[in-house]
Amino acid sequence: MLVFTQVAELQYWLDGQRRAGKTIGFAPTMGALHTGHLSLVHAAKAECDLAVVSIFVNPTQFNDLSDLDKYPRLPEEDTALLLDAGCDALFMPPVAEVYPPGDDLTVLLDFRQLDQVMEGVFRPGHFTGMATVVKRLLDIVQPHRLYMGQKDYQQLTIVRDMLRQLDSPVHLVICPTTREPDGLAMSSRNLRLTPEMRAAAPVIYETLQAAKTEFETRPAAVVQAQALERLHAAGLRPEYFDLVDGISLLPVAHWADSDFIVACVAAWAGAVRLIDNLVLKGQTP
Ligand code: AMP
Repeated sequence: MLVFTQVAELQYWLDGQRRAGKTIGFAPTMGALHTGHLSLVHAAKAECDLAVVSIFVNPTQFNDLSDLDKYPRLPEEDTALLLDAGCDALFMPPVAEVYPPGDDLTVLLDFRQLDQVMEGVFRPGHFTGMATVVKRLLDIVQPHRLYMGQKDYQQLTIVRDMLRQLDSPVHLVICPTTREPDGLAMSSRNLRLTPEMRAAAPVIYETLQAAKTEFETRPAAVVQAQALERLHAAGLRPEYFDLVDGISLLPVAHWADSDFIVACVAAWAGAVRLIDNLVLKGQTP
C-alpha cells in the first residue's frame, strides 16, 4: 500500500493508474478505523481495480471544537488495518494540502431542506464543511466510484444531491451500517464511551427496531414520543428521533404517507454524541 501526504504526489500516481485503464474506488474517512470503514474498502476492492482511502479529520465540519480536539487519531493502527484490508493507496494529508492558504473552497450549493433538518439543526455549519471536504477530495482523487456508509444517512443524501447538482460522473455506492453484536452502530466515537455508556448505547438500535413495528399502526408523534422516552429511560440524552421520507428527509406523519421511510436518531451517551438510523419502509436507492 502506498501512503501519500501530498496532493501532487497522489495525483501523479493516480494519473498513471487512470492512463493504464484502472478504475478507482474511493472511501473518505476521518480515521480511527473500524470494521464499518473496512467494509467500504472491501466493497471498493470488489468493484474497482484500486481502492483509495483518505484519512483526514476535517476541521471545517466540527461545529464543536472540543469534539475536534477529542476526535480519536490512530494513524499507525489505521495504516495496519488498511494494509490488511488490501487498500492500494492511503491519503493522509495535512490541513494545508486540503485547504491551501488563501483559497476559499467552501461549497455554497443550496441543499434546500436536506441540510436544515436533524443534524442541520444541532450542528450548524457541519454539512457545509462536510460537502466542502468531500468535493475537494473528489477533485483531488477523481474516483470512478465513491463509497459511503448508510450510518451517516443525512450525509449521503446531501452528497448524492451535490453530485447531481455538479453533474458529477462519480457513482455513489452506499454500504450498509456495520454493527457490534449487540446492535450498536460501529463508530470511531464509540472508543470514547465510558463502560456504563457503552452498556447503555445499544438502546439506540433497539429503539429504531421498535419504531419499525410501532409506526405501521401508530402516528409518528406517538412513535417519536415513545422512542425519546425509551432513550431517556436508558440514561441517554436524545437530541432528535425523526421519522422522515428517505429522499426529501421531510417528516412523515403516518406510515401510508411515504413509500420510503427512515428513522434517524442522535443521542448523547455521556459526553459522546452518537447517531444512527434504520430504513423502516422501502429500500435505500
Ligand atoms: P467517518 O470516518 O466517521 O467520517 O466515516 C467515514 C465513512 O465510513 C462514511 O462514509 C461513513 O458513513 C462510513 N461509516 C462509518 N461508520 C460506519 C458503519 N458502522 N458502517 C458502515 N459505514 C460506516
